[in-house]
Amino acid sequence: MPKGFRGVSIPKDLLDEVERLIKENPHYGYRTIADFIVDAIRWKIQQMGLRLPTWSIIEKTENEIILWDGREGTFVKVMRTPDGLRCTYCDSRRCDHVRYAESIESYKR
Ligand SMILES: [Zn+2]
Repeated sequence: MPKGFRGVSIPKDLLDEVERLIKENPHYGYRTIADFIVDAIRWKIQQMGLRLPTWSIIEKTENEIILWDGREGTFVKVMRTPDGLRCTYCDSRRCDHVRYAESIESYKR
């Protein structure tokens, strides 16, 4: 299990059905069962009128930081490069993820 992730037990029959639905409906754009489940959790939280924190630091090393972006419902990597910080999700040096990383004391320029 990668760092920053946790496992949960889900009934096999349910996962088999989700897998079948994903394969039979590629137009929805889910590549993996995990993508579907993350999206389903996000929808459920929205339906309940609750909110996830917009930003969370998942993992931080000297040269990269993994963020949870609650607006996008995805994990994002910001890397330190010779030209400054770069977001691999947006392929940008000026997006909100880079600005957030720059606000972290150890990532200031
Ligand atoms: Zn970004």
